Amino acid sequence: MKREIIKILCCPSCKGTLTLSVEKEENGEIVTGAFSCAQCKITYPITEGIPDLLPRETDGS
Ligand SMILES: [Zn+2]
Repeated sequence: MKREIIKILCCPSCKGTLTLSVEKEENGEIVTGAFSCAQCKITYPITEGIPDLLPRETDGS
């Protein structure tokens, strides 16, 4: 997954800006990491280069 993708992605819940945190990067591509939305306080994991941006309910507990 290219780092530049952050520029075209937005939070699927609030359409706000996502913050990217990279755990593992190879050849300029992000392999493992996470997107997070400060507004929704939701983290969307990136696994094997695939971002999981499915909307989800916040755990209210
Ligand atoms: Zn959001």
